[in-house]
Parts: sequence; C-alpha cells; structure tokens
Amino acid sequence: MIIPVKTKDTSYEVHLGENILSEFCIRHAETLEKVDQLVIITDEHVWSLHEQYVREHFTFPFKLFIVPNGEACKTFESYFKVQTFLLQENCSRNSALFALGGGAVGDLTGFVAATFMRGIPFYQIPTTILAHDSAVGGKTAINHPNGKNMIGAFYQPAEVLYDFHFLATLPEIEVRSGLAEVIKHALISDQVWMDEFFSLSSMESIDKEELLIWLEKGIRVKAHIVELDEKEQSYRKYLNFGHTYGHAIEATVGYGKITHGEAVMIGMIPALMLSEINGEVEQGYAKKVYYFANSLGYNFQHVLHCPFEDLASFMLKDKKTTNGELHFALLQTIGEPFVKVISMDEVKKCDEQLREWIKEA
Ligand code: NAD
Ligand code: ZN
Repeated sequence: MIIPVKTKDTSYEVHLGENILSEFCIRHAETLEKVDQLVIITDEHVWSLHEQYVREHFTFPFKLFIVPNGEACKTFESYFKVQTFLLQENCSRNSALFALGGGAVGDLTGFVAATFMRGIPFYQIPTTILAHDSAVGGKTAINHPNGKNMIGAFYQPAEVLYDFHFLATLPEIEVRSGLAEVIKHALISDQVWMDEFFSLSSMESIDKEELLIWLEKGIRVKAHIVELDEKEQSYRKYLNFGHTYGHAIEATVGYGKITHGEAVMIGMIPALMLSEINGEVEQGYAKKVYYFANSLGYNFQHVLHCPFEDLASFMLKDKKTTNGELHFALLQTIGEPFVKVISMDEVKKCDEQLREWIKEA
C-alpha cells in the first residue's frame, strides 16, 4: 500500500504493510548507492527488540546511533550528541538519516536532519501506532525545559516506511496511546468510521487486520490535511482536536507519567462538549465517548490530580494560543471540524463537568 503526500515544495510516499523494509532496499538499490553514509537513529528499547529484524532486512551498510527511549531523547543533549556523532563519522550533505522508532525518535531525527549542514534527507521508520500520525506531515521538534516541541522545524521526510512487523511488540499502554490519535482521525473525518469504534469492547478485541485498515485511513486523513496546509495556517489546526486541553493534561501530569495519546483522549472529551455547545454535535455525544474511552481503559483519574489553574496556565502558553485567545479545534458534526476562539470560562465549565463524570464513575 502506498499513500502519496504532496506539499507545495515536495512530495513523498508512505509505504505501509508487511515487508516494507526489504522492499525499500530493493527499490532503492541504485539511488542509495550514491549516498555516502546511512545512519539509523533509534532508541534503546526498539533496538533491543528489533535489531535482528533490521539487520536481516535493511541490507545497506549503516551506522547506528542509539538514544534513550521516549521523551528523554527529545532534548538538546541528545540533539547535540547526534550532531556530534554525524560530524565525527564524516557525514556530509550526501548522507541520509533513518528514524527507527516512535514519535519521539522521529521528531528528534527529523529536527537533526533539518539542521545538519542546513538539511539532509531523512526517512521515517515508525514503530508505534501513534507514529502513523507523527511520521507523516513533517513536524519535527525537540523539547525545551520551558515547553514541549518548542524548538523545531517543518521538514518533510523523503519517505515513510511503515513496516507493520514492528507493531507486534507494542505493549498495551502504547497501543492505547496510539489508538487515541486514530480515533481523533476518525472524529475529524468520518462519522461512519467513528461508529465502528463504539463496537470495540476492549483493547484486546482489536483485530489486527482491522487495525491496519484504521492506520491506513488515519494516514490518509493526515496526508490530505497536510497537503491542504503544510504549515498550520488553516486546515492543519483541525489535527489539534483534543490537543489544547490534552497537552495541558500531559504537561501537568508530567511527561512520561502519561502517554501522549492518553492525554489526547482525555482532551477530546472537553473538545466534544464544546462541539455540542458551539457546533451541532448531538447532546450526549461527549459523554458517550467518555464512557467508551473508559471501557477501553483510558485513565481519566489523571484529571483529578491537575488543578484547573495549572491546566489554564499551560493552555495559555500553548502554540495554538495567540494573544491570550484559545483557538480550539471543534466539530460542527462528526467528521466536520472547524476552529473557534473559546474563552477560558467556557473551558472551565467543561472541565468541571468532566470532573463530575469522573467522580460519578
Ligand atoms: P515514543 O516514541 O516515546 O515511544 C513510546 C515507547 O514505546 C518508547 O519507550 C519506545 O521505546 C517504545 N516502542 C517504540 N516502538 C516500539 C515497538 N515496536 N515495540 C515495543 N516498544 C516500542 O512515543 P510515541 O507515542 O510513538 O510518540 C510520542 C511522541 O510523538 C511525542 O514526543 C509527541 O510529541 C510526538 N508527536 C509528534 C507528532 C508530529 O506530528 N511530529 C504528532 C504526534 C506526536
Ligand atoms: Zn498528538
């Protein structure tokens, strides 16, 4: 399966399915001969699980740089270490990087690629469900102590190689995290697709074939929006559905103590409440999604540990906030997003409602 992505300045393909890594090596046998160095950047955990598979299927000679797992790799320190490694290994403008891992490794590697010698090609090899989202679209970043993803660039990959082999080792917590972004893609694009999720009774009952179809659909939604608006001037804001409140939860709970996707699932509930009020989403839909998310094991208790004042101060610092105005991605109807300025008072009301639901349950 190949999904093309076209932006103003570039176009690339997302290859997804089985045997994607070996197919890539066959397809690029000649083009990659001209590249002087191939460097795989991955995290400790992914490498410990998949070294053998990569060595067997990635047939080009490569250098390897291993970073800490998860958010811990999106630091200035890791960024600097990777750059130093590339310089020590005499990498040049003719070198190419491969990000083998989840969104964290992808974001770091993309930013290194965007800035090493003013930009060298990089390939995304996503290994998580969440990375069906992060590997496509060209947002790259590292974190600053004062804020997540604050230092970065829009820089598109040369290709995305989504080899489903990697997904087999994902623990349930990461499946749950990634599924939240898949559900987000359904909510902002297609009511009929969203209805399919309601019949899911548990994380274990997700059928592999079905998951792969969902990932393909999610990538198509993302690719389409990125094509319309690469630099987030308009349509791309729709992808922030659930992220204004979600990022505030993620930051307040503490990075690493809650997954990105779990925070986004939490954030989608106030966004749906606001969509009932400001759009035409049927009354009770937010509560329905809340109960559905609970049944899949998303942990809403986190909210009770986050005072609203803390969430509010994070929402005001968010990149989506301009001049103190909160720009919320909302839904007119399921599948039809729009952006609206929302007052902090309105958010507070939804927050209070959500806390009541959590205490009830
Ligand atoms: P991650 O990269 O931190 O990976 C989560 C954990 O799963 C890590 O411990 C990792 O080692 C492990 N892991 C990865 N692949 C595995 C596999 N196949 N089997 C077993 N374990 C595996 O997290 P993520 O959820 O993939 O990505 C989150 C990051 O993505 C955040 O930093 C977020 O800001 C970023 N993000 C970026 C975008 C974007 O558009 N650039 C979009 C969404 C999220
Ligand atoms: Zn996200």
